[in-house]
Amino acid sequence: MNHTVHREQLIQIGIKYGTPLYIYDSGKIEIQYIKMKKAFSSVKNFRINYACKANTNLNILKFLQNLGSGLDTVSIQEVELGLKSGFHPKHIIFTPNCVSIQEIKQAVDLGVRINIDNLSILEQFGDDHQDYPVGIRINPHIMAGGNSKISVGHVDSKFGISYHQIPHMKRILKNTGLKIEGFHMHTGSDISDIKAFLRGAKVLFQIAIDFPNLDYIDFGSGFPVPYKKNDIKTDLYFLSNYLIEEFQSFCKDYGRQVTLILEPGKFLVSESGYFLVNVNVIKHTTSTVFAGVDSGFNHFIRPMFYEAYHYIENISNPYGRFRFYTVVGYICESDTFGFNRKISEIREGDVLCIKNAGAYCFSMSSNYNSRYRPSEVMIINGKDFLIRRRETMQDLLRNIVDVKI
Ligand SMILES: *Cc1c(COP(=O)(O)O)cnc(C)c1O
Repeated sequence: MNHTVHREQLIQIGIKYGTPLYIYDSGKIEIQYIKMKKAFSSVKNFRINYACKANTNLNILKFLQNLGSGLDTVSIQEVELGLKSGFHPKHIIFTPNCVSIQEIKQAVDLGVRINIDNLSILEQFGDDHQDYPVGIRINPHIMAGGNSKISVGHVDSKFGISYHQIPHMKRILKNTGLKIEGFHMHTGSDISDIKAFLRGAKVLFQIAIDFPNLDYIDFGSGFPVPYKKNDIKTDLYFLSNYLIEEFQSFCKDYGRQVTLILEPGKFLVSESGYFLVNVNVIKHTTSTVFAGVDSGFNHFIRPMFYEAYHYIENISNPYGRFRFYTVVGYICESDTFGFNRKISEIREGDVLCIKNAGAYCFSMSSNYNSRYRPSEVMIINGKDFLIRRRETMQDLLRNIVDVKI
């Protein structure tokens, strides 16, 4: 796979900051942002809202804000991080699931946009806040998404208000006087079937046409990135051609232009990230050669949690003889980064680079086994900047109340 950051630079940064280490190439984030922007350049009001749960480092948020992005958030804490990094409240959309009415009211106090995804909360919200227009997250009943954990738009999904419940929703709006400013769908991460996505979009248009006060229609995300050679990438132009055509025809019928929103997380940041780990031990068993590294699912859980494939390269010895290894972590449970991988000969002390480490990697990390979470570095204009310090024992103890027993 091609490096946008040169291998030598990764090694130097690894030496400077130590491992385990996350490195993000801001240049790649910018390339992805511009790619998406260009594919929709014919839409007058087009916005990209970065889904920040993929990576919430404040510096990533600020970088995307500077590019002109808005923000998609799923917790009130993400909303606050967004405001701290300088996003205008109206450029932040709060799209939570199963949160309390109190948390939604906090979002009102902060002035951000809100997508509501169930009728109970809609009714409670409408009772007190009929003057605060909201968006509605629709469940279009489309099966899409890379695996069952990240497929969220199907009929049994906990997300969204079913389009069969629109009559009930309309009654609630009438009873409360609440106005709807947008419609939203998000059918899952890693959708490979763009046609399924477009079917969902059509459902949204059919619903939206009856609501006169709309500002936006938000089609969510799920745009995949390649994890290995020959993986499908999102065919942005295939997607944008069809979506734009349907969107323009909707706006014509609707009588005016509304804003088209997409909220990619993975698409913007996944490929920008590299995770460097040090090989502590090479262990031969009767069947396998293990490379044991100084990290585990406490830092990088996607391979273990989703069986996600992440390409692994030995950057210390790129031109060695290729052999088969199973790369594992140091956690006291099975934590396999890559099973039976062909990798250039690995020696103890080598640094391995795990690719596609920008999305859902650090943000899903934990302190399991009482390990410190790694530091993060961002490359901006060729220079490396530390954007998160490695944790210390103080971090592990910060909230412990030491009761004298
Ligand atoms: C997670 C999420 C996204 C981003 O999904 P990606 O697959 O990372 O692009 C967008 N919108 C909502 C509501 C989400 O929950």
